[in-house]
Amino acid sequence: MTFLERLRDPRPILLDGATGSELDRRGADTSLPLWSARALIEAQDVLFAIHADYARVGAEVITANTFRTHQRSLAKGGLGERAAELTHTAVAIARRAAPSAFIAGSLAPLEDCYSPELVPTQVECEREHALMAAHLAEAGVDLILIETMNTIREAEAAARAALATGLPTLASFVCRSDGRLFSGERVTDAARVLAALGVHGLLINCTPVAAIRQPFEELRAAAGALPVGLYANIGHTDHIKGWTNTLDVSPQEYARLAAEWLALGARLVGGCCGTTPEHITALKMNMMTT
Ligand SMILES: [Zn+2]
Repeated sequence: MTFLERLRDPRPILLDGATGSELDRRGADTSLPLWSARALIEAQDVLFAIHADYARVGAEVITANTFRTHQRSLAKGGLGERAAELTHTAVAIARRAAPSAFIAGSLAPLEDCYSPELVPTQVECEREHALMAAHLAEAGVDLILIETMNTIREAEAAARAALATGLPTLASFVCRSDGRLFSGERVTDAARVLAALGVHGLLINCTPVAAIRQPFEELRAAAGALPVGLYANIGHTDHIKGWTNTLDVSPQEYARLAAEWLALGARLVGGCCGTTPEHITALKMNMMTT
């Protein structure tokens, strides 16, 4: 079955949980600027185990560790020349660890996820997302997951680049506690612009569990017939190692909230930073009983 066929099936799709913060939780070095990309060089076995654990507990989509394999991100750690190679490595590890899952290529913001003022010029966004999307397509992903976007214009550039590869494309936004994008733009406007480009689904991600419901409901209302979804975070950002995990939201509590999201029309659910295979296990149990 292709990912687009699976997307047409009305049963909810379980995404995986966090990879970057999980690498840190398991002892891999995730210090900035390379963050999760460092594991592609230093901790491939840990990364493999994380993907395998998510697949084992029932995630249908495994997101390859390409969040920070843009040339621009790698260049900050002196590895800019290795963007294609490390993107291929990330996809190959995910594929080997989860041979039955759909492998998503993560297409992330070129700069910091929570800093819309750092989004590069539109010409740079178009050029660099096209390069990254091409690397993901060459590496053989089943779909492209544009995630944690903080402005409409960078999401547009990424979506054009992803759709140009011919791959199914999902686009996801990060929201502030007031339910708007970090740029201050409205979710409704973001949804309309991205839907008009022809993306195959829309999501909200990396927003705290307590704040994600409102922007998700706004997204669902604006998305029309497009599949929608969400994956929330647990914890907070950290300027040295990227993310600080906390025990704020237990797997059971996360699954209880996800049941509400599914009842509100979510078709794709999973976890962002701070979530673990235990959270995805609880989600899976809940989805099987409801
Ligand atoms: Zn996140």
